[in-house]
Amino acid sequence: MLEQPYEYVAREPVEPDWRRLPGFARVTEEEWRSAQWQRAHCVKSVRQLRGVYGDLLDGSFYADAEADQAGRATMSLLLPPQMLNTMVPGEVPSTATMLADPVRRYMLPVTSDRLPGAAASHPYAARDSLHEHEMWAVEGLTHRYPTKVLAELLSTCPQYCGHCTRMDLVGNSTPAVPKLKFELKPVDRQAAMLTYLRATPGVRDVVVSGGDVANLPFKNLEAFVSGLLEIESIRDIRLASKALMGLPQHWLQDDVVAGMTRLATTARERGVSLALHTHVNAAAQVTPLVAEAARAMLAAGVRDVRNQGVLLRGVNATAGQLLDLCFALLDGAGITPYYFYMCDMIPSAEHWRVSLARAQTLQHDIMGYLPGFATPRIVCDVPYVGKRWVHQVAEYDRERGISYWTKNYRTGIERGDDAALDRRYSYYDPIATLPESGRRWWGERAVDPVAAEVAAASSRTASAADLVG
Ligand code: SF4
Repeated sequence: MLEQPYEYVAREPVEPDWRRLPGFARVTEEEWRSAQWQRAHCVKSVRQLRGVYGDLLDGSFYADAEADQAGRATMSLLLPPQMLNTMVPGEVPSTATMLADPVRRYMLPVTSDRLPGAAASHPYAARDSLHEHEMWAVEGLTHRYPTKVLAELLSTCPQYCGHCTRMDLVGNSTPAVPKLKFELKPVDRQAAMLTYLRATPGVRDVVVSGGDVANLPFKNLEAFVSGLLEIESIRDIRLASKALMGLPQHWLQDDVVAGMTRLATTARERGVSLALHTHVNAAAQVTPLVAEAARAMLAAGVRDVRNQGVLLRGVNATAGQLLDLCFALLDGAGITPYYFYMCDMIPSAEHWRVSLARAQTLQHDIMGYLPGFATPRIVCDVPYVGKRWVHQVAEYDRERGISYWTKNYRTGIERGDDAALDRRYSYYDPIATLPESGRRWWGERAVDPVAAEVAAASSRTASAADLVG
């Protein structure tokens, strides 16, 4: 064998023993496999977290988590037992191992993870950093790309991820972030979406998301997807559910499997591709239950189960971690690695973000190990542009960490904008990753830290690209 930078080792997925956690010590296999039991025992507060871990974790850990919820968190706590059980999976957790754990780092943020003070947020961070709300054709339906739309059917999930890009809308308000609320009733919003899509035959591809479709009563999801399947122009439907990993028990319920079989059968008869997209960021999260749920969906007839992860420092931002995750998905669960998004420029996310240069290096370093169809693309979701492969950057000032991007289509809000295709759009590296001269340059921009904090917490306006002069 040649020595390689990454050594592939086939690994069987393992379900960590939940009985190692004091709060789950007496939970039976039957209870663990029940979606209802999982939902009823989600951790929603630090007090409940203490009920699971008890004295395994120091008081300082609970205080750290409490401080984050009170001061920084953009998402409230919501952790199904299945998700908690993938933190420090192979041993009884301690404060040190929990702090270092990649799943904990993104699902259960603590204040000591974040950069201090104003450095926690990029000066141009924004709540709706991708401007999806501005691009709503009707409430919840983002029409950003020419042929595809994002339908946000609901604003809740069975789990809340600390780095959620849709933190503007998804989840409960936190002390730092009052959330936007949908105004229409769900049934009216869905009807408006279907009406728009019937009248817009140029759209062929619908991502059905939220939130997480696992939080919709299945009959409501089935009604909406059935409505899509009746529109001749819709050829691709992708259902987005992180719960395939966070709450695989949901997707293993008999009524859900039967319902997905009905939808997949109709889709196949009509020549439509129905796929399930999930969001796994760490190899430890691919457990036998996750594999069972993914295979149940494939057996139900969906065309593919794909993973869209997020590149996060301290979680998966090394080539080894990415490849371990991709092989766990592909070998262990039949899930196709698809994308890794760079973490978006939301408030208090600087400790998770990596530079574009780092993302380019990672893309280089993971090439050649996985089959081509399962080699994920690392993409930057550039405000007002959309996904770009990280090597598509038009110009890159590495000293100041500003990348410039172009695009080849108009978003829904640029119909009358003649310059939209000639303009360059900016994206920013985390300032802490810049060379000293670049950090000094940003320091001299006289970005008022208080104003930046306020802007980060409340701005739903433009990316402020023009502020860079
Ligand atoms: S599951 Fe998706 S939408 Fe829900 S909190 Fe996580 S990243 Fe956000």
